[in-house]
Amino acid sequence: MDLALSVEQEAVRKLAEDFVAREVAPHVVAWDRAENVDRSIVKKLGGLGFLGLTVPEEYGGSGGDHLSYCLVTEELGRGDSSVRGIVSVSLGLVAKTIASWGSEEQKRQWLPRLTSGEAIGCFGLTEPGTGSDAGNLATRAVRDGGDYVVNGTKTFITNGTWADVVLLFARTNDSPGHRGVSAFLVPADTPGLTRRTIHGKLGLRGQATAELILEDVRIPASCLLGPEGKGFSIAMSALAKGRMSVAAGCVGIARAALDAAVRYAGEREQFGKTIARHQLVQELLSDIAVDVDAARLLTWRVADLIDRGQDFATAASKAKLYASEAAVRCANNALQVFGGYGYIDEYPVGKLLRDARVMTLYEGTSQIQKLIIGRALTGVSAF
Ligand code: FAD
Repeated sequence: MDLALSVEQEAVRKLAEDFVAREVAPHVVAWDRAENVDRSIVKKLGGLGFLGLTVPEEYGGSGGDHLSYCLVTEELGRGDSSVRGIVSVSLGLVAKTIASWGSEEQKRQWLPRLTSGEAIGCFGLTEPGTGSDAGNLATRAVRDGGDYVVNGTKTFITNGTWADVVLLFARTNDSPGHRGVSAFLVPADTPGLTRRTIHGKLGLRGQATAELILEDVRIPASCLLGPEGKGFSIAMSALAKGRMSVAAGCVGIARAALDAAVRYAGEREQFGKTIARHQLVQELLSDIAVDVDAARLLTWRVADLIDRGQDFATAASKAKLYASEAAVRCANNALQVFGGYGYIDEYPVGKLLRDARVMTLYEGTSQIQKLIIGRALTGVSAF
């Protein structure tokens, strides 16, 4: 694996770093307090090509390799995980899945709009009764002539209230032993689809997380994405790549924690010297620094495998597991360096800890990542 960035990769990383400094950092505290990122950020992300990374240029994407995608995601995650999540879902889970599985018509209909930020996508898999056990989902799509009629409820859907298109997973076949889940591209303004914002989140407060209620939602059969019955495989392949993006976002959180803690340790004085001169504070800082490097290397390894066309799913689970747990540890260690000030939202580390916590839960909890890794090691599925 070549760890040296190319000129193009360094340029796109710098573009993202500058974007965060200019368009994100000044607003982070206000967006978090208001529980609302300014939606105009989506067009700005699209304008710089961040919503089209790795999507072919013929569909409005900005091309690029997966390491570039990691670099941008890390910078966005360093700035604000709520903003990073917009990209990870609309590009990573939705646009890239359309690029892989969509018909020519679906690609032309959605990709230019999604990659430019004119439209935004959400990924509707989780339901109130099925989270980790997503294959058991209860939402149903019943064929009726040239249409499907969909009924069910999705919950915890990132970008849910903002989305123009829902990548929706619904059961189309109930016969025993048949997984029978299919994927659909549902325009969010389809009659019968209502959305409710979920308030009171511990972190990612700026993000539009929603419950989606589908009551007799009638969609033409042309909304089916990929073959009928392939939906579960489509969801799992999207999430495998998505885990790389979550891991890169976690590296961003860990780096933000490190930068803030080092800066503060050099300024704050106790016992007649800066706290940076106390050995136990240096231990906290060095633990964060090692986690940053380890999480980043595991994440880049996934990008490298994808760009070489090799199997990456287990590596993605390892990276997501390690980076998400590391992000929580790093933010918590940074908060310790800040002492009581870390507990106040004028200082950045409390938000980093709140935002980090969900990373061990979504796109497969830490326990689910361990079961994926365990299955690869033993050949036995222990779900
Ligand atoms: P459960 O599956 O009920 O798990 C509860 C606990 O049991 C966990 O500790 C879990 O690890 C453990 N557990 C479950 N099964 C096993 C097992 N076999 N062995 C060992 N332990 C097990 N979903 C979407 O579809 N789209 C989104 O955009 C999206 N965004 C989200 C945003 C936020 C802020 C949050 C909080 C969630 C989001 N999710 C989204 C949902 C997320 O993916 C689920 O919350 C996650 O998969 C876990 O499901 P659950 O919450 O139902 O927990």
